[in-house]
Amino acid sequence: MLKTLYLHQANVIRITRKSLVCAAMLGLSSTVFLTGCATGQNDTLHDTTHNAIHEPLHASAGHNEFSSDIVNVVYSTTDLHDAVVQANTLDAQSTLVVFDIDDTLLTATEFFGSDKWYDWQRGRALNESGAVIPTSDAEKVNCLFDTLGMVFEIATNKPSQPNMANLVHSVNNDVVILTARSGAYRAATMRELARNDLDFTDKSLTSPDVGLHYDVTLNGRTATVSYVDGVFMVQGMDKGVLLLDLLERTGREYSSVVFVDDKQHNIDNMADALKSAGINFYGYHYTRIFKTVTPEEVAQANAARIALGELLNTHFEDRAEHINHRQCDY
Ligand SMILES: [Mg+2]
Repeated sequence: MLKTLYLHQANVIRITRKSLVCAAMLGLSSTVFLTGCATGQNDTLHDTTHNAIHEPLHASAGHNEFSSDIVNVVYSTTDLHDAVVQANTLDAQSTLVVFDIDDTLLTATEFFGSDKWYDWQRGRALNESGAVIPTSDAEKVNCLFDTLGMVFEIATNKPSQPNMANLVHSVNNDVVILTARSGAYRAATMRELARNDLDFTDKSLTSPDVGLHYDVTLNGRTATVSYVDGVFMVQGMDKGVLLLDLLERTGREYSSVVFVDDKQHNIDNMADALKSAGINFYGYHYTRIFKTVTPEEVAQANAARIALGELLNTHFEDRAEHINHRQCDY
């Protein structure tokens, strides 16, 4: 019988965050909780060492207790090292490691155009009290994805944690970079990966000179996705379903997947997809990058939106007219 186990790494040191994560997990239909969440027995843990993390978790995870032949576990962590350690305990040939990009390997250096700016534009960002920040229509950009593309070209990304690149380089497994970004942003995305010492060309599941571009329709929505140089861009589609599809297209089979992502719904989708495929799943919900939006960031975003609009209106009149009339290209 398959179960999804949600575990907490010992280096999740913020009790309030941990409690929120546990509360969120309660809404998941396929979730089986460990007592660590239910009782808060690990609330006092402040252990940031890595070697000790997996021992108590796997013991308490109770693969025996749940009689599960297929592993389906999710950890909450603030350190990519945890996922790398997990991967290294598994068979290198039959284990695939999958990393998200935004707020997982890389994070924006400015609020405008960042992952949480996108959430704020969509009206789902949270303030420091955990309340949703209302975003007025005047604060929203016209053509969100056009704007995002322009900002990706302008902005830089930095590592999500100082040793990020070294940790990624230490992975011996096959690796897939799986981002919700659209392939329309590939040039800027590859540029920032390279700037941060990340190159997955030699990790590609295809021949190095082969890339995949194809349309996928899920739940009535069609997206053009692309897999090139080890970087899979799925334009907001279900990451779990799309990963299985990619493995089928590339003729790859793995018995286990280690997946790191900052978004809970991506973790959930991957857990569901791999469970259905009978693949062991080791999910890492990466919570190192703070998602709360401050009033200062809102002010910065509003100033940047106005300045960008002025630049377009003054020097790129045709594009400005398109965007001002919501004739969006992306
Ligand atoms: Mg992300």
